[in-house]
Amino acid sequence: MSKNSLMNTYERFDVIFEKGIGSRLYDVNGKEYIDFVSGVAVNCLGHSHPAIINAITEQSKKVIHISNYYWNTKHIELANKLIENCDHSKVFFCNSGTEAVEGALKAARKYGKLKGKEDKNIILYMTNSFHGRSMGALSVTGQSKYQKNFMPLIGGVKEVEFNNIEDLKRNFNENVCGVIIEPIQGEGGIIEASSEFLKEAREQCDKYDALLIFDEIQCGMGRLGSLFAYKKFGVIPDIITIAKALGGGFPIGAFIVNEKAEGTLVPGDHGSTFGGNPLACSVGCAILNELVDGGIIESVDEKSKYLKEKLLTLQNKYGVIKEIRGIGLLIGIKVDDPKSFMKACFNKGLLVITAGKDIIRLLPPLNVEKEDMDAALNILEGIMQELSA
Ligand code: PLP
Repeated sequence: MSKNSLMNTYERFDVIFEKGIGSRLYDVNGKEYIDFVSGVAVNCLGHSHPAIINAITEQSKKVIHISNYYWNTKHIELANKLIENCDHSKVFFCNSGTEAVEGALKAARKYGKLKGKEDKNIILYMTNSFHGRSMGALSVTGQSKYQKNFMPLIGGVKEVEFNNIEDLKRNFNENVCGVIIEPIQGEGGIIEASSEFLKEAREQCDKYDALLIFDEIQCGMGRLGSLFAYKKFGVIPDIITIAKALGGGFPIGAFIVNEKAEGTLVPGDHGSTFGGNPLACSVGCAILNELVDGGIIESVDEKSKYLKEKLLTLQNKYGVIKEIRGIGLLIGIKVDDPKSFMKACFNKGLLVITAGKDIIRLLPPLNVEKEDMDAALNILEGIMQELSA
């Protein structure tokens, strides 16, 4: 099997996966791995979950795709389910995280335009943030390593130091139409926004009539222990972007707006051929049924507590872990050399990924079993033992 026909855009591990069940993945040679990457916060129900298999099977027998010139039962059902669980009023469906961010940015620009002020087009974004790879999302991603080869990016954007209230206030004025923030920076290294910072962002958006956008693509859909991440911070944004776990592995994204933002985009302003297709939305409905009605989100805090306590014991015992951070099942452990640590995990059959410059990210499926957590913790302990020997 030649791998040369795939474009070389990822630093891939030397493994070819074939199948997965629950929190376990199997390569073409039958070697088993515990999956604490979950497709980077995507496989919230693990692999081969019967609810997802059933949704795909049943819906594909009915209809897979219909143009957005028509309504379909499944986008209506999924939009209703999302709206029932937040403080917002309308949903736009797309296919990925970056596309959800693009839509949110366009809504903010249009919001500024509707205010009748030509200059009201500035979007504020945070240092160290990550919002995706398309040109708009990249323009509000506060990490030059992702941006530097693709200049010029879109104009009318301004960087604010994350969690710095004074810097936020300094950059705010009546020309700002939107602010985009990850409540927890995922790629940036599992760094929480302070509630004070988010509250100030809310206040400034109200004062200068701008839209507050929370990018919950990585931290939403139950990962923090609530369906929407904003509920953990006590600040309600005007727009939420979601993707990843909404499809549990099936590509889907969305942005959700409140009444203040719902009138921005009108027919002709925005669209997506595949967005909201019945197959993707039927999977989304199945996921929400499991996460919300099936009690999986309720179990996240307990699993988080278990994992963090065990990690703390390992930290005290070996000193390899310098810090444990994160909320729910978005957990970061700070180590000296995360790349080598990640490789050591891989060699022992545990999949983890890095974040920022010194963090190992643990993103187990939200329905992870205790047995799988213990097996992962055993591998982590083995590596720490070796490192501290
Ligand atoms: N926003 C955040 C916070 C993300 O973590 C990601 C992906 O990691 C994205 C946006 C981009 O999502 P996608 O890769 O689906 O385009």
